[in-house]
Amino acid sequence: MPLTGKSRNQRRMSDKPRSHGRLSIAATAKPRELVTDTPELAGAWKARVITLLPTAFPGILGESLTGKALQDGLWQLQTFDLRAFGEGRHRNVDDTPAGGGAGMVLRADVVANALTAAADGTPRDRARWPVIYLSPRGKPFTQAMAQRFASTEGITLLCGRFEGVDERVIEHFGIEEVSLGDFVLTGGEIAAQALIDATVRLIPRVLGNQASTEEESFSDFLLEHPQYTKPAVWEGREIPDVLLSGHHGKIADWRRVMAERLTKQRRPDLWRAYCAKHDRDPDEDREL
Ligand code: SAH
Repeated sequence: MPLTGKSRNQRRMSDKPRSHGRLSIAATAKPRELVTDTPELAGAWKARVITLLPTAFPGILGESLTGKALQDGLWQLQTFDLRAFGEGRHRNVDDTPAGGGAGMVLRADVVANALTAAADGTPRDRARWPVIYLSPRGKPFTQAMAQRFASTEGITLLCGRFEGVDERVIEHFGIEEVSLGDFVLTGGEIAAQALIDATVRLIPRVLGNQASTEEESFSDFLLEHPQYTKPAVWEGREIPDVLLSGHHGKIADWRRVMAERLTKQRRPDLWRAYCAKHDRDPDEDREL
C-alpha cells in the first residue's frame, strides 16, 4: 500500500508530532488517529524531524527500500511542525538578525520549545540519541557517520530555513552540526532526507542483501569498482573478460585494482587514508 494519501499531505498546525510508518498506513487507522498518535514501535530505529515543512516528509523516504522498511516498522519517522511552536497569533518562528543584514533567523525560544518536545521520551545521552542541526557549517556527512547513527536508538534532526538558527540554541542543547556538502540549500529538509536514507539502509534487514553494504563505496576508504551487466556487447563495448571468466579470485583481484585506481585518480584524500590503513606508500608506483 502506498504511503501517500490526502490525510498525510494536508497542512495542519498541531504541536502533536506526526508519525509515519507501519501504524500510519494500517488500513483500519483513521486519519485523525494518525495525526495524534505517537506509537512507539519497539526495536525500531527512530528519526524525529523538526521542520517548517512537515508535509515534505516522508518524501522520497516513503519510496522503495526505505519506504518498505518504514511500512514494516524497521524504522519510524516523526515530524514536529516548527510552526506549531511559534509566537503569538501568527505563530512567528523567525525574526531579523541581530546586528542587521539580509534574511531572517529562527528564534532561539521557538526552536528550543520544539527541541524540548522532540526530546520527550528520548535518552539524554547524545551517544544513544544524537541531536543534529543540518547546516552548511557542519562536519561533512560521511559513511562513517551514517554507520554511527545507524547504531543509535534514534536521532533528532533540526531543519533550518532562511539564514538558519539562533546560535545560542545550538550551544545550549549540545547540538551536533552536520553538512551535506559545500553548497547552500534553501532548507535542511533535503539534507535530512539524505542523512536518514544513508542511515536507514544500514539498519539490519532494510537491504535484502546485507553484504552489499560491506563492499560498496567508502566501506574501506575505496570507491567502488566499475559495474557491468547485460548485454555482453553494447555499442561495440565489451564487458572486461575477467568478469565473465568465472574465476572468483581473479575477479576479486581485478575489482580491488580497479577500485584502487579510481580512488587514487579521483579522491587523493581517500587514497591517503586507505594507504595509511593498509601500510602502503600513497606515492608508490605500482601498476594501477
Ligand atoms: N546562512 C546560512 C545558510 C542558510 S541555508 C549560511 O550561510 O551558513 C538555510 C538552511 O538550509 C540551513 O539552516 C540548513 O538547515 C540548511 N542547509 C543549507 N545548506 C546545507 C548543507 N550544505 N547541508 C545541510 N544543511 C544545509
